[in-house]
Amino acid sequence: MAYLQLSNIEKYFGDHHAIKGIDLAIEKGEFVVFVGPSGCGKSTLLRLIAGLETIDKGSLQLDGRDITHLASSQRDLAMVFQSYALYPHMTVFENMSFALKLAGVEHATIRAKVEKAAAILDLGPYLARTPRELSGGQRQRVAIGRAIVRAPKVFLFDEPLSNLDAALRVQTRIEIARLHRELGATTIYVTHDQVEAMTLADRVVVLRDGRVEQHGTPLELYDHPANRFVAQFIGTPSMNVVAAKALPALANGSGDAGFVGIRPEHVHLNGHAQAGLPATVDMVESLGVETLIYARLENDVQIVSRGSERTQLHPGDRTWVTFDPDSVHHFDQAGNAEAAGASA
Ligand code: ATP
Repeated sequence: MAYLQLSNIEKYFGDHHAIKGIDLAIEKGEFVVFVGPSGCGKSTLLRLIAGLETIDKGSLQLDGRDITHLASSQRDLAMVFQSYALYPHMTVFENMSFALKLAGVEHATIRAKVEKAAAILDLGPYLARTPRELSGGQRQRVAIGRAIVRAPKVFLFDEPLSNLDAALRVQTRIEIARLHRELGATTIYVTHDQVEAMTLADRVVVLRDGRVEQHGTPLELYDHPANRFVAQFIGTPSMNVVAAKALPALANGSGDAGFVGIRPEHVHLNGHAQAGLPATVDMVESLGVETLIYARLENDVQIVSRGSERTQLHPGDRTWVTFDPDSVHHFDQAGNAEAAGASA
């Protein structure tokens, strides 16, 4: 049995079947990220694990104990929310120590634990301040510190970086990764941001409409997506996926009914060498480190290419598109991946 075992978990909100039977085994020390589009059920699944929603069907085991119907406070889990949920009238020290105080832990032990967590999170100078006197990033670190002092069996994060600006998101993301390395704590993290998912996770769980579409290491999902949905959800810009009959050059005998996919970095545009498929440039995005070019083939299919070279191409220019033939993904009519080179 895994450290945290979800077995056929289901959840209804009235008639709405939000979680449709999820099985997942999470190992001790693993950093697992739930990712998926808005409304897929990732926060609900986290809240079911936290005990903030009741589980309608299935079971949840943590470290050999059935916690399916246990109160949240009895589960030995700590949750960090997007909204921080700090007590505004309490100092940082009081916020971080509150749970231990409630549990009747003696003062000297509380002080030692809070000071240790504050040192890890660089919060030492702020212990006497109230949340109002802190930046957003510092508040989020207090919320994380509050979880750390409890030394829970599992840390649960619900979109913890959403309220931070772009630079602070990256910085806090790096801190969370470092924290996980140092503490080795089992962590489940919910985000809709696939870059966060890819950079933090040992394992990414892609959810859609209350079900698990696929789980695996970030690069397993990137290199071997099980279906069209995962292929297009992971990676920015998305994988190009078109009907096989619209790109027979890539279909490679896999039949007309399915789809072919190719990532933007495996698509090349050339304004001079008249090889490949003719196309017209729609849009150029020069990002400095990379260039994205959106081009339209003669059959009106739009393809995006990504390259590290800068380009002389402009919208309206004629160009020629070539593909790395070994990097083509094949999907059947239902959108499921076919083995490389397999025919339908
Ligand atoms: P987001 O990224 O937008 O937060 P999510 O994947 O976290 O989305 P959930 O919040 O888990 O999605 O919601 C899953 C589905 O369940 C949605 O259709 C939502 O409307 C519904 N839902 C969530 N909580 C409740 C509730 N308390 N009552 C009724 N329906 C709910």
